[in-house]
Amino acid sequence: MHRLLKRQIRKFLSIEEQEKFKDFLDVINDAYVDFDSDIKQIENILEESSQELFNVNRELKKNLETKSAEIKTTSSRLESIVENIKEVIFQTSFDGEWMYLNPAWTKITGFDLWSSVGTNVFEFIHPDDIELCKLKFKYLLDNKEKTNHFEVRFVTKSGSYKWCEIEERLIIGEDGKATGVSGFIKDISDRKTLEEEKNLTTEKFRMIFEKSSVAYLIIKESKFLDCNQACLDLFGVKERGDFIGKFVKDFSPEFQPDGIKSSDKAIDLIYQAREKGFNKFDWIHMKKDGMEFPVEVILNPIHLAEGNIHFVALNDLSERKRVESELIAAKEKAEEATKAKAQFLSTMSHEIRTPMNAVIGVTHLLSENEPREDQLNNLNILKLSADNLMTLINDILDFSKIEAGKIELEKIDFNFRNFINNVTAGFFMKAKEKDLEFIVDIDPKIPTYLTGDPTRLSQIITNLCCNAIKFTDEGRVVLKADFKGNSDDRVSIQFKISDTGIGIPADKKDQIFESFSQADSNTTRLYGGTGLGLAITGKLIELMNGSIDVESETGKGTSFFVNVDLKISLKSKPKVNFSDEHFADCEKLKGMHILVAEDNPMNVLIIKQFLKKWDVTYDVAKNGKIALEKVQETDYNMVLMDLQMPVMDGYNASENIRKLKGEKYQKLPIIAVTASAFNEIRAKVIGAGMTDFVTKPINPEELCVKLEKYADRSYRH
Ligand code: ADP
Repeated sequence: MHRLLKRQIRKFLSIEEQEKFKDFLDVINDAYVDFDSDIKQIENILEESSQELFNVNRELKKNLETKSAEIKTTSSRLESIVENIKEVIFQTSFDGEWMYLNPAWTKITGFDLWSSVGTNVFEFIHPDDIELCKLKFKYLLDNKEKTNHFEVRFVTKSGSYKWCEIEERLIIGEDGKATGVSGFIKDISDRKTLEEEKNLTTEKFRMIFEKSSVAYLIIKESKFLDCNQACLDLFGVKERGDFIGKFVKDFSPEFQPDGIKSSDKAIDLIYQAREKGFNKFDWIHMKKDGMEFPVEVILNPIHLAEGNIHFVALNDLSERKRVESELIAAKEKAEEATKAKAQFLSTMSHEIRTPMNAVIGVTHLLSENEPREDQLNNLNILKLSADNLMTLINDILDFSKIEAGKIELEKIDFNFRNFINNVTAGFFMKAKEKDLEFIVDIDPKIPTYLTGDPTRLSQIITNLCCNAIKFTDEGRVVLKADFKGNSDDRVSIQFKISDTGIGIPADKKDQIFESFSQADSNTTRLYGGTGLGLAITGKLIELMNGSIDVESETGKGTSFFVNVDLKISLKSKPKVNFSDEHFADCEKLKGMHILVAEDNPMNVLIIKQFLKKWDVTYDVAKNGKIALEKVQETDYNMVLMDLQMPVMDGYNASENIRKLKGEKYQKLPIIAVTASAFNEIRAKVIGAGMTDFVTKPINPEELCVKLEKYADRSYRH
């Protein structure tokens, strides 16, 4: 029986009663046993469940531990991010008090967190930016979901301001009401400084562009995009709108001076600028009122992301062109004046030389006609004065010719030794007159035949020797020609002209080469002269690419050194021979018959005398017209043709002779007789068909050389 039932029965039932209710008790006993087994089963179930619960609990605990460790890690990570982030993370109350700020706040503003949190935001904002903050807050209140982005200046602990960018949103409470604002504050002061600097630079460039006095223009595809005030002023435009957006052709005449259409030419020039990298050219523009004006255009292509533009600088050339045309006019005037001067000199020399020619010629004739001794003296004085006057005229002429660049050196073959003999012949006499010794010393190494301009070389040597004799009262004058070396076909010669005369003060040495300059103001009074000689000498030496130098000691003497390079002549017989053989040779002219075309009876008289001496017969024609007739009537060997004659001048007469039919008129030598040896006269003479020329006053030697030269080629019978 079930132990619990047993215990109860013993308490309440006797054995007999137990026997009596045995069946009943068995049923109850079965119920007890069933109950026990049920309980056992429930116990089993409970035990199993509690084990499960335990397991779950353990699992949960484990999970919790992992999660909380994870949360801890995340929050410390977040904390460190918040601590270290460069941007300020903030939260404010609805009333604008800082509720939260991360340490970046201290880094940006310098204020510590604890003294800032709880204070009003506006205490930290630039007064000028507070209004903006308020407006932005209002915007958020009106647009709860939106975010604000704006820039304000925050004050820093040092009192300065820092530009910051704020990004903020409303914080909405559970009840849907705004409780404050949260967001970021980013320090943008560096970016702002850069921006400001950039703005400043841009502003600076804009100012330079705008205020420059040079007209600047920006064009795109020949359309005006932008310009400065100077450009508007240049085009006479008041309103920018009347200019910007217009085209190059709108402010240019239809055609440029070369006849090309402005619109076509502009496109071409812009294209060239693109090809070359820039383009500079002159252009005719047109003002708003239609007035045309010249400009210099400098086009620079600039490649921008939004396309190619051209930066244009315009220089108004109106003033320059005006000055240029004035200069051209002035130059033309000056050239005319120079021409007039040359013409005047040529005419004057002719006018002066003609009577001088007569004076010298007649003096020659008179002295040959066995004059009395007193007459001879006077004749000598006359001759000397006339010679001096001729030298002076020649000097002035020479000088003005050199000044005008009208002197061209000749290249003639000559015998150097004969040349020196001829040049110096007169100086022996002159020196003797002053009781001076005159010594000529020629280096034998100098080749005999040279090529150059003997006339000019003789002028140089003559001038220096004349001066040496003039400024020396006792002692000697020496002319030395030294060989200084040679190259293939040239020889370097140094002429040294030294004297024992008055000398030149050291401070005047440079001055003496200037025109009309003398070492001493008394020189003219004591020694005569004009101060032109050395100026001419210096310039002639310069023309020969040579050099001149002077050494001098006052009271002791002077030495001039002239260095020239001359060509060595390859011809054995030079064309000009400076010997007096010519006079002997003039015999050869015997029998020639020539025509003298000359209107001045004095000149005719003198020429006649020479011709008579050489047994040359002649006819005289008083003007060109008569000369033209005479050559057709008579066969002459040669014509001596004066240039300035009445009725028909020498040029016309010569031209007409050359036009006549018949070979003889082409061959007939016509020698011009001219007072001027100017290059242009020479050219004119040759241009008119004449063969050569002789200069006035007629030098018998020169005339003889010329007659002899052309006698061979002349039309002889
Ligand atoms: P000019 O002889 O007509 O006065 P130059 O031009 O030939 O002009 O000479 C210029 C000056 O140089 C002379 O006036 C003189 O003062 C000085 N001069 C030239 N040659 C000599 C010289 N050999 N000795 C002294 N002085 C000289």
